Amino acid sequence: MYVVCRDHLDDAIEEFVEVYEQPPDLYELDKVTFTDWTQPSRCSFCNKPPKYLVV
Ligand SMILES: [Zn+2]
Repeated sequence: MYVVCRDHLDDAIEEFVEVYEQPPDLYELDKVTFTDWTQPSRCSFCNKPPKYLVV
């Protein structure tokens, strides 16, 4: 699972496909809420606020 900013969305998808050998599901973080999950405050690849969830 990756939480990424807009700049790193492609990187996250590439890495996901490499690791799991299937395309990920994409969610926009401001459109989903998970009750038992605290959203990370930073992108998995840099220090920007994340915008997408790649799972
Ligand atoms: Zn980033």
